[in-house]
Amino acid sequence: MIKILVAVFLMTFAICMSSSSYFIHFFAHRALERDAELLLTYFHSSLSEAHTLLSRVKKDGLYKCSDTLERSLETYEFESSSVRWLGVVDEDNNLCASDPNNVDLNTDQVHDLQDGYTLVSAEYKNNQGRDLLLLNSAGKTRFYASLDLVRAENVLGFDCERCLEYTLQVVGSPEPLFEQHVLESEPVVELSTLIHEEPIDLRLTIRGSTNFFQHYKTVGWEFAALFSTIISISIASLAYFLLRRRQSFERVLQDAIRAKEFVPFYQPIINSKTGHVAGAEVLVRWIRRDGSSVPPNEFINFAEKSGLIIPMTELLLKQVGHDLAAFGWQGSPYYASINIVPEHLQSNTFYEKVEEVINKNSLRPENIALEITERRRIVDLKQARQVLDRFYALGIKLKLDDAGTGYGGFSYIQELGISSLKIDKMFIDSILAIEDFKTPVLDSIINFAQSSDLEIIAEGVETPEQIEYLNKRDVSLIQGFVFAKPMPASDMANWLQISVS
Ligand code: C2E
Ligand code: CA
Ligand code: CA
Repeated sequence: MIKILVAVFLMTFAICMSSSSYFIHFFAHRALERDAELLLTYFHSSLSEAHTLLSRVKKDGLYKCSDTLERSLETYEFESSSVRWLGVVDEDNNLCASDPNNVDLNTDQVHDLQDGYTLVSAEYKNNQGRDLLLLNSAGKTRFYASLDLVRAENVLGFDCERCLEYTLQVVGSPEPLFEQHVLESEPVVELSTLIHEEPIDLRLTIRGSTNFFQHYKTVGWEFAALFSTIISISIASLAYFLLRRRQSFERVLQDAIRAKEFVPFYQPIINSKTGHVAGAEVLVRWIRRDGSSVPPNEFINFAEKSGLIIPMTELLLKQVGHDLAAFGWQGSPYYASINIVPEHLQSNTFYEKVEEVINKNSLRPENIALEITERRRIVDLKQARQVLDRFYALGIKLKLDDAGTGYGGFSYIQELGISSLKIDKMFIDSILAIEDFKTPVLDSIINFAQSSDLEIIAEGVETPEQIEYLNKRDVSLIQGFVFAKPMPASDMANWLQISVS
């Protein structure tokens, strides 16, 4: 079981990881897009605020550098959340600023906006990066507002100078005119976002460099590994749970076989024309310790898949041998028809068990019949035929169960030496108590069986009208609730006494 669980874990992990690359790419793009939007939003609000503040400073007519001007600038700047400092360079080239700053305003990195505004990229004198400023002039006086790029960069969480290029462009200009940072490595993602708002229209292009993208990929792979581990553990746990349940059901069935809790019920097959019993089908019932009876559909599939059907049928067979002797069927032509599966025909083991039961209970081989369903596939028809020939030589016949519903059909009839067809209840149900109904499939099965000299048993017959219909078509062997339901051996013995006498 451990090997299976490890394999399940590894397979799930591999599948999850290999499909993760798509998500990692997707999430890296989303992250870049989100950051671009954020950055742009900050630029935009900074620029709008700077624009408003500069027009207010200008309106106040505070053009001459003085303590009063400095204090006013401080007050204005204080009101703004995204302008870092405000400054005025007066006619005499003196700088008054809301914050002591160390920016070299003599730069040629400028870009003219509308309404006489200009964007200026100025370097810090101590080489500590750049400042982006909005500039408005009145005569020789210049008004500056520093945009809060740092905050935008902080939002991104890493050093944009190395990892990002962002380009500002005023709409209407054909080329990006102001470059804040230069990209060093190859761009892998390119996005652009546009905000239209008077008076400034901005376009920001963000390019994630390999570094930038790589960061998200690393985060992505870490997430993918964690996600894959969780999924793999969940799937492996589910597999463990299912295996345990399977194992435990297998064990429960094994214990029930050992405790002989599987018993044969008998459902008579009757010749409706003569009223004589022809035999009975053996139908397994699981009688649990508490006396409750479990129908076959709750365990037969599992028993067949797990191979437990073999010891289960052997257990039934032994009890059937004993029951038939108790019914007094030795020497009679009555038969008990046992349901077998293809695995019973893979070797002679089952044949030998049947022979042993017959001898032990002094039965005639004719007292035992076999039925095999058309629904199950027999892999090696030749091998099955060899085993069946031994049964036939002894005098035991084979019926094809659920005829017309499976895929064995004609090949089984031809290859396996079938002597009877059991017509499934499904077709019998098509015989209705109304006038002018049609049963083309049932009729053709009957015609086929009769022309092939096969005995026909109609199964699941519930009404006298169905018997009448079948009798008219020379089908007289009937198994169904119309005569009797499957019953335990003791009831069957009583039933036989009443109906045979
Ligand atoms: P099946 O071999 O086709 O058996 C006939 C089923 O139809 C039985 O159901 C029987 O009780 C039911 N039946 C018979 N006449 C009527 C009727 O007039 N009306 C209705 N509604 N049902 C009717 P059961 O006993 O529940 O068995 C179900 C299936 O389980 C069987 O279908 C067979 O495929 C499988 N099975 C039963 N016992 C064994 C067994 O010992 N070995 C194997 N391998 N399979 C078995
Ligand atoms: Ca059957
Ligand atoms: Ca059947």
